[in-house]
Amino acid sequence: MKTKTHARANGSNAAKSSSRSSKNSKETLEDIFEDTLKDIYWAEKHLTKALAKMSKAAYNEELKDAFNTHMEETERQIGKLEKCFELLGKKAVAKKCEAMEGLIKEGEEQIEEHDEGHPRDAALIGAAQKVEHYEISAYGTLRTMANVLGMAQCAEILEEIKDEEAETDVKLTELADKINQLACEVDEEEV
Ligand code: FE
Ligand code: FE
Ligand code: FE
Repeated sequence: MKTKTHARANGSNAAKSSSRSSKNSKETLEDIFEDTLKDIYWAEKHLTKALAKMSKAAYNEELKDAFNTHMEETERQIGKLEKCFELLGKKAVAKKCEAMEGLIKEGEEQIEEHDEGHPRDAALIGAAQKVEHYEISAYGTLRTMANVLGMAQCAEILEEIKDEEAETDVKLTELADKINQLACEVDEEEV
């Protein structure tokens, strides 16, 4: 069953499948959707641990709270994704997301390479926002695919998660304004 389609681009996965050799010609958009869902499922599962680390490393209390709040939200997102698998009639399986592994590693590097304080907090926010932007993009792609496939309930869930990621990004931008200012003051004290 097909319902409304959106004119927006839905990422590169579908296009990639159509340009593959003929032996993969039986691969459907639903297969790609399932694969993309597995990728973000892996990402969210690993993000809960990463956010716990980021929260522990944060110097600013408000930033600590923001990471904690999003960690709890991420745990709920994992449940929402499991609901999507269920609606698709498939088992919830995680497939390694190479990009998220790299983004998480970047965050860990900031923790390892810098001392605790406002400047490192500014770096942690930067790393976290890269993650949120990846997620916003991934959920946009998934939402569009779900709509095209006629999976309205799934699309609704994915849109909801996308909004949560976007709200987190806005919150981090607000915190960055404050924390970068504090980090600047640290620089001035040292001069
Ligand atoms: Fe998430
Ligand atoms: Fe990925
Ligand atoms: Fe997120």
